[in-house]
Formats: sequence, C-alpha cells, structure tokens
Amino acid sequence: MRQSKLFTKTIREVPKDEESFNAKLLIRAGFVRKLMAGVYTFLPLGFLVQKKIEKIIRDEINSVSGQEILMPALQSKKNWETTGRWRYPEMFKLKNRSDKDFSLGWTHEEIITPLVKEFVNSYRDLPFYVYQIQDKFRDELRVKSGLLRGVEFLMKDLYSFHADEKDLDDYYNKMQKVYFNIFNKCGLAGKTYLTLASGGSFSKYSHEFQTITPSGEDEIYLCRKCRLAVNREIIKQEKNKCPKCGSKSLLVEKAIEVGNIFKLMDKFSKAFNLVFIDKDKKEKSVLMGCYGIGLGRLMGAVVEVNYDSKGIIWPKRVAPFLVHLIQIENNQKVSKTANALYNDFEKQGVEVLFDDRQDKTAGEKFVDADLIGLPLRIVVSERTLKVNSAELKFRDKKEVKLVKIKDLEKFLKNYAK
Ligand code: ATP
Ligand code: MG
Repeated sequence: MRQSKLFTKTIREVPKDEESFNAKLLIRAGFVRKLMAGVYTFLPLGFLVQKKIEKIIRDEINSVSGQEILMPALQSKKNWETTGRWRYPEMFKLKNRSDKDFSLGWTHEEIITPLVKEFVNSYRDLPFYVYQIQDKFRDELRVKSGLLRGVEFLMKDLYSFHADEKDLDDYYNKMQKVYFNIFNKCGLAGKTYLTLASGGSFSKYSHEFQTITPSGEDEIYLCRKCRLAVNREIIKQEKNKCPKCGSKSLLVEKAIEVGNIFKLMDKFSKAFNLVFIDKDKKEKSVLMGCYGIGLGRLMGAVVEVNYDSKGIIWPKRVAPFLVHLIQIENNQKVSKTANALYNDFEKQGVEVLFDDRQDKTAGEKFVDADLIGLPLRIVVSERTLKVNSAELKFRDKKEVKLVKIKDLEKFLKNYAK
C-alpha cells in the first residue's frame, strides 16, 4: 500500500469527547473513527488489524474442529420469550412497520439451540462445534472505554454440543489452550490470566481470560501462593481467600476480560427441548458450552499493553503491515531504489506500507511511523544509498542498523516467519 494513496491521515489532536487511551491512540494513528459512544468505523489500517485477529481466531478454532456459520443479527421475539430473556436490559428492541417485535442479537444461544435441533437425533450426531464471527449489539451503560466496550462490536462466539459431561469437560479444557494460543499470537502473552469466575446457575465455575493493564474495567485477585487468578465475584464469595489453597495473600490488579468460556450444561437445551437418544436408548438433553472473544476489545487490549510515548507498538502477527518503507528525499536515485524495493516486497508477499509522500519532511514521516507502529521501519535515503544500504529499525528497539540492499530480501524472509 502506498501511503500517498491512503485516504486516511494521522492527526495530532484527538476529539475531546474520547476518554479512553486505546481509542485516542487508534484515532490519532488513523485506525478507527467514532460515530457515537461505543460505535466505531474501522478505517483501512484498523480493518487490516481486525482481519489479522479474525484469521488468528479462525485458524485456532478450525484446528479444534469448529465449523463456521453466520447467524442473523436481526432476531425474532419468539426465541427470546422461550428462555424468558426478552426482558434482558442490554438488548436493543425494534419494531417493523406492522408493529411486530424484533431484537438485535447480543448473544446467540436463543438462535443456535433451536437451529441445531433439526440435525441432532442420536448420540452419533454428537459432539460438534459451531461458531461465528459477527456483530453484536448491547445497550451498555458505561461506554467510556473505547474499543474495550462497544455498543456494536464483533464477537467470535462458539457453541459446543455434547452427549455427556466428560466430553464437554474435555472440549472445555481444550479451549483453554486454544484461547491462550490466540492471546499469545496477539502479543498478550504473559499478561493474560485464566481467571476463575462464577458459573451461573448450572456449573460451579466459568473462566475468564483477563489481561492485566491499568485501564481495565475489571479487577482480578492473584494468589501469591499458588498463582491462581480469581475475579471479584468469586473472591467475595470465598471471603477473600484463594479458593484453591486458602491463602489470604492476594495481589489485586486491574484487567480487561478479553474472552470467556462457560459450561451452559442443559440450560438452553432444556428450554428448547434439544434432546438425543443415547447409547442406552434413553432420551437425554444435549449438554452445551459457549466460548466468546470480543475482537474489538482484543484489539483495544493489544494497544493498551503495547505502546510508548510515541505511539502504538504492534506485535508482528496483528500489525496491519509488517514493514514501513520510508523514502526520504524525492530525488531520482532514492525514489528509484525505494520504488524498486516496494515492488520487490509486494512480489515476495511482504506486507508493506510505503511512505512515498512527496510533501512530507523526514521528521514528519518518522513521527507518523512511530505513531502507526508497524514492527519494522526501513528507510532509504541518499545517505544510506551511499553505502548501498537501507536503515532498519524495529519499533520496539532503540538502535538502528544498516543492511545492504541486496541482503534485504533474505533478512525479511527470516523476519516474516
Ligand atoms: P463484560 O463483563 O465485560 O460485560 P460479558 O460477561 O458481558 O463481558 P460475554 O457476554 O460473555 O461478556 O461476551 C463474550 C466476550 O465478548 C467477552 O469476554 C468480551 O471479550 C467480549 N465483549 C463482551 N461485551 C463486550 C462489549 N460491550 N464490547 C466489546 N467486547 C465485548
Ligand atoms: Mg456484559
């Protein structure tokens, strides 16, 4: 992508109505724009990041036999009346011209459970795992956290269907590993904790994945003795003691819930009569699990933990481009080499943003590069070409180094791995 053609630009000042750190930075760097509280447009750079995150999630979920579908966002009242959740306060409701009631999906248990009924008869039809990546709508009360709390936001929601509890447990445990793979690839390794949370009315515990950062809306309690993390609800219930080892030595941290997993057991299959004939010829309720990740929240969390005073520091796998190629002077020699490099990179499949803008100074280009935060900056100037080289700088390091133009291809091949 040529930066001269990018229709968006970075800005120095953020709109006054934006409070959150992640949205301020993402707006300044030209990744998103706010339409209203909790509702954002993803601009080309932001959309590329979202697609990267989507691919990481999709690849991981497919690797544990997830089957992707797309359910409607527009939903009928009937499904919600079946479970008694039509009164749910966060649900947006609307009417059509004939005064019929509809809602906008804030979750999809009420849609998926009756949907799969048609395909489940015997234990042989189980287990299976169905997911979607789709816009959710929630009338949230506090919308001051930018991408961390959207009113409209993308969610990956996976639902699993099992014949018995052991099978549900196995898959639930497998999902914990899958979720850590996802968060590791998004650069949140080391800061994200599997956190014990309430299991609702049907199972003792559920689990949240909490990423520690000062801007988090949640609070988690880390046991200094056994390293277990528990959320606020559980620690109250356990009277400020670690539920695993009983220790009272707890570290309190602010955190963002980037995902959660939940055993629904037969809560929804009972409501919709989702049953199957088991090996023993008896009719039983299907057991269910649900597993969510907010994609926008994840992107916001990545920014909240990867930045410095100059801008964002994108982890390699979620960066909109790997390389920021910058041409300094506009003379023929520099321009020719920079353009040749750009074409080579594109041919090799290296994702590159090429700052070919003629009306910007070197200083302005560097400020923008730091703000946008691509992992590797490659500068071509008269000075570097005197030694047949380009100047390389990693966004998360201080030093710069010169690499011969002829060696760049090999260097990038290794780096892109
Ligand atoms: P929270 O307690 O933060 O409101 P939740 O318990 O309502 O979250 P779920 O309904 O289980 O969350 O949704 C699954 C996942 O979707 C969450 O773990 C989170 O990553 C994401 N998510 C939930 N609400 C939002 C939101 N308003 N904006 C962005 N992502 C969200
Ligand atoms: Mg919520």
